[in-house]
Amino acid sequence: MPNKEIPYKIYLEENEMPKQWYNVRADMKNKPAPLLNPETLKPMTFEELRHVFCDELVKQELNDTDAYIDIPEEILKFYKMYRPSPLVRAYCLEEKLQTPAKIYYKFEGNNTSGSHKLNSAIAQAYYAKQQGLKGVTTETGAGQWGTALSMACSYFGLDCQVYMVKVSYEQKPFRREVMRTYGAKVTPSPSETPEVGRKILQEHPGTSGSLGCAISEAVEAAQAQDGYRYVLGSVLSQVLLHQTIIGLETKAALDKYDIVPDIIIGCAGGGSNLGGLISPFMGEVLRGEKNYRFIAVEPSSCPSLTRGKYVYDFCDTGKVCPLAKMYTLGSGFIPSANHAGGLRYHGMSSILSQLYHDGYMESRSVEQTAVFQAAEEFARVEGILPAPESSHAIRVAIDEALKCKETGEEKTIVFGLTGTGYFDMVAYEKFHNGQMEDYIPSDEDLKPGFAGIPRFPGNEI
Ligand SMILES: *Cc1c(COP(=O)(O)O)cnc(C)c1O
Repeated sequence: MPNKEIPYKIYLEENEMPKQWYNVRADMKNKPAPLLNPETLKPMTFEELRHVFCDELVKQELNDTDAYIDIPEEILKFYKMYRPSPLVRAYCLEEKLQTPAKIYYKFEGNNTSGSHKLNSAIAQAYYAKQQGLKGVTTETGAGQWGTALSMACSYFGLDCQVYMVKVSYEQKPFRREVMRTYGAKVTPSPSETPEVGRKILQEHPGTSGSLGCAISEAVEAAQAQDGYRYVLGSVLSQVLLHQTIIGLETKAALDKYDIVPDIIIGCAGGGSNLGGLISPFMGEVLRGEKNYRFIAVEPSSCPSLTRGKYVYDFCDTGKVCPLAKMYTLGSGFIPSANHAGGLRYHGMSSILSQLYHDGYMESRSVEQTAVFQAAEEFARVEGILPAPESSHAIRVAIDEALKCKETGEEKTIVFGLTGTGYFDMVAYEKFHNGQMEDYIPSDEDLKPGFAGIPRFPGNEI
């Protein structure tokens, strides 16, 4: 290492801040497969997609050639309120673990919504406003996305309607009330209002809901109202694009001190934070400039990458969204009520799926008690109370650091700390009381989800 001492927190100066998002698809030889229209099985066109999403976002969704896309001035201005997020050297954690590894984390919990989701929410609200829309509808799992979107919408004066996974709506009244503070209308999903919600309730009576199911309801609600579009907090390529602000800042901060990571780790729900964090580094690998290990971490109870199939599937339980080629457990898979709500999604970003399929990324699944052990260990030494989702990445970062302790290797580990867990204290309580259970679905349990995957020539399981 050169003579520069590495500070506890690495910030960027204003003139070092990224002004463009990076579109990793431009550097991928094997592009992610296009979204398909479920009726014609042909790639979704701009015209078809613009009925669902804002025009500018559709362009971003379909763009797999431009490596850099300008971040509009107004979004840069909003980013300045809470960015750059700090890249922290986890000196205390290293000491506690007695590891020769160097551990860094990029902390995205420094805003009221408590997670990275605001990075894309503000972009999506901006484009909706630009287009002169009245409002947007969306789904939210644990509530982080809904919170981020309600903040973004109130900033631009847009109406915001949120379908919230029922189990979270009931277990997390605080997040729900933050959304309402920002003026959003929040409905538990599945609900009785739209058609698709009622249908899901008939097929799965008493269900505690799922992200996929809430998506269907939100899409339907957008289509039923004039001047409304649906916006999504993860999975889509446009969302991953906005989240590259995380990776671009991380890379700029590391470069500033000539730090080269060996391993980059992130939790994976729909893949947006992980994709955003690793994109600039992945770009270097794809262009043959560098080599890094990337690890996606998911819950054992919802193992899309580790045990899913790489096929075209519906993005949502109600089958109203286009088909995406991705690692999936089947859109009908409703995971057990584990405590990392943001990771309870049956599929995965098509970009990450393709990269994983091509061997550029590894995946790990971890059990929730081990995740909360890591969360607690981290909270005690680093001072931040992490979100359960983020703690999946902490678990694997600690595991990798402990391996370094055995081998004596001084690896540099970077992980994404996506948010804080203050609204997840019921989960922490269960953990402290020894009432938290690990649930690993058997192959038998996964079968019904796989059986619901659409079959057509070229899409065999
Ligand atoms: C939503 C969420 C995630 C998972 O979403 P991705 O799209 O996979 O990034 C992870 N951590 C937190 C704190 C979240 O809110």
